[in-house]
Amino acid sequence: MMMLTILQQLKYGSSIKNKVLNQRYQNKNIPEFQPPDGIVQISLCSDSLQPATEQCPNVIREYFIKGTEPKKNCNIHSDPTYKICVDSYQLATEYCPEDRVRERTYHFFEPPPNIPCPVHSPPE
Ligand SMILES: [Zn+2]
Ligand SMILES: [Zn+2]
Repeated sequence: MMMLTILQQLKYGSSIKNKVLNQRYQNKNIPEFQPPDGIVQISLCSDSLQPATEQCPNVIREYFIKGTEPKKNCNIHSDPTYKICVDSYQLATEYCPEDRVRERTYHFFEPPPNIPCPVHSPPE
């Protein structure tokens, strides 16, 4: 009987029809997907399929069983690491003493060193 009433109302015109349709649409609750216990959602870089960094341009979401998710961040778009000489803060060369050479990660907003260490030059 209820159904019949609505169908009858629909005959009256589009305004009533739209109202009914809108109500039906609003009542349609789509629950947000919640991963079950033991499942983790990870943002992956679509280029390396490793956990995305802030620099990754294309990020996808994947589900993993807890403990099996990749741990190493994207190595394509992560901050670059340079070997620098701490005497000059420029790129370490083969002539820099080993104990003066450090690995340093440069953030994308920092200018990386771009000249070879001028302090330790090749022997004449
Ligand atoms: Zn990436
Ligand atoms: Zn040096």
